[in-house]
Amino acid sequence: MASYVFDPSAQPSVAVEGTDARFPVRRIYCVGRNYASHAVEMGSDPEREPPFFFCKPADALLEDGATLAFPQATDNLHHEVELVVALRSGGKGLSLQQAKATVFAYAVGIDLTRRDLQAEAKETRRPWDAAKAFDQSAAISALVPTEDVGLSKDSEITLAVNGEQRQYAQIGDLIWSVEETICALSKLFELKAGDLIYTGTPAGVGRLVPGDRVTCSVAGVGTLELQIAEKSS
Ligand code: MN
Repeated sequence: MASYVFDPSAQPSVAVEGTDARFPVRRIYCVGRNYASHAVEMGSDPEREPPFFFCKPADALLEDGATLAFPQATDNLHHEVELVVALRSGGKGLSLQQAKATVFAYAVGIDLTRRDLQAEAKETRRPWDAAKAFDQSAAISALVPTEDVGLSKDSEITLAVNGEQRQYAQIGDLIWSVEETICALSKLFELKAGDLIYTGTPAGVGRLVPGDRVTCSVAGVGTLELQIAEKSS
């Protein structure tokens, strides 16, 4: 055992349905735009853009049923419901077939975004980290192993705030499929067991305010609930 100058941080992990064993998280990758409807609402042309990626730190995870402390430094916190993929293995330059074999489980996630900071970053051509990679910015449900998942092109992905539906799409609306996304990502990074991929959000992203209750689901995978706390200061 190595010795450290202080105790290392705890290993980030996510619950797995059907077992007490947890999924140890290595990295969190996110797809920037992956539904035509959302690309259009953000002012892009969905036809011409290959997938692009950004990251969140593994310790930004927030589990199902949690209360999100309202993030500092934003007046425009946005929800982005997403299908999340959890990898059991990885590699570089994977084929579609190899990409498929890396998938361990699926989950429902929310890519929480400080939209005001993202707009500023876009305008000034600066990185997105402050907009995307803040504490508690990666909400996630328990993982559901692939053998228990019933995903099809018709599976609905939805998000509601205080019971009112804001986001809706079908998984078949993804511009890049799960396998294609893994494939593309593996051409940029060596993927490994423990990696999570947030696969992008459909149209209807919007503002969350203190006190909001967020409920979302991916049919065939599961549900995720979040409470937004009152603003502290
Ligand atoms: Mn997103």
